[in-house]
Amino acid sequence: MSNTEAHPDEVVCHEGGLPGPRSSCADGVPVEIIEAREVPLGGPRAMTVRRTLPQRQRSMIGAWCFADHYGPDDVSSTGGMDVAPHPHTGLQTVSWLFQGAIDHIDSGGNVGRVLPGQLNLMTAGHGICHSEVSTRETTVLHGVQLWLALPDAVRDTLPRRFQHYEPEPVAFEGGSALVFLGSLLGVASPVDVHSPLVGAEIRLEAAAMLKLPVDPAFEHGVLVDAGEVSLEGVSVPRGAVGYAGIGSDRLRLRNEGAEPARLVLIGGAPFGEDIVMWWNFVGRDSDEIARYRREWQEEADRFGRVEGYVGHDPEGLTRLPAPALPGVRLHPRQNRPPHVQG
Ligand code: MN
Repeated sequence: MSNTEAHPDEVVCHEGGLPGPRSSCADGVPVEIIEAREVPLGGPRAMTVRRTLPQRQRSMIGAWCFADHYGPDDVSSTGGMDVAPHPHTGLQTVSWLFQGAIDHIDSGGNVGRVLPGQLNLMTAGHGICHSEVSTRETTVLHGVQLWLALPDAVRDTLPRRFQHYEPEPVAFEGGSALVFLGSLLGVASPVDVHSPLVGAEIRLEAAAMLKLPVDPAFEHGVLVDAGEVSLEGVSVPRGAVGYAGIGSDRLRLRNEGAEPARLVLIGGAPFGEDIVMWWNFVGRDSDEIARYRREWQEEADRFGRVEGYVGHDPEGLTRLPAPALPGVRLHPRQNRPPHVQG
């Protein structure tokens, strides 16, 4: 996924800064609602995604620094996903589908097909580029793409990597979970992470209630894909993230509706490092971001090359150009501190 917002300004979050209209952490209510905004992915028949992270309200949840949710889209009308080769630095991308298929090619020499129920984790480290194209056979595309910021200690030294993992469902009374990163419900993903974190798809049957044991050192977000879900008794609209801060060893999730519900749980230890995120880059200061941009534009070795990208449009771009930098220096995101559950 590429961040194609027309003005991908950095987001600066200050403690006590602009809470969203429904943010309730200051009132002692344990959940804040992070509403999605619609963002076109670009291209001739641009597919639209619902972006919940980053936001002025809250830029990260643990190391999770970006969350796009899309579909279910009839690809015959939207054109599906066609993101030409574009770069990343200092992060990992997590592709998780509910429906459809996406072909991935990256400059680490990895070619893979992303399918529902399978974690595909790409590590950018020092620099990578990749393309993402929904397959011709895909009729409905539906999923999420999430980014994880890499800690400073490893962000420049981790090699380019593309890892694949298909978790077994874990059943509980009233539903099941697919734990794709970290540990939850007694199972652990074998995929390495670089800061303490968790990621899982959770399905809840109609009227099911789950008291989910979690690490009290983690903050959590519940991205609702389908159904009428509440977190700690607070209704989380479809496409939004319900945010729960640190300090609780249980999350109370409930399907309030008569249809099955599905959500994606993301969580982790508060990241503890300020990052600068602009376009598809995660760095630490404005000069670093400017250097990444220049090196991408100059086709420098930092990013390598994607071999074999075929987009949906024969006349389309073979490589996404970086947008212009804003005329002011980029500042680090200072994420609002996690609130503590009462
Ligand atoms: Mn990408």
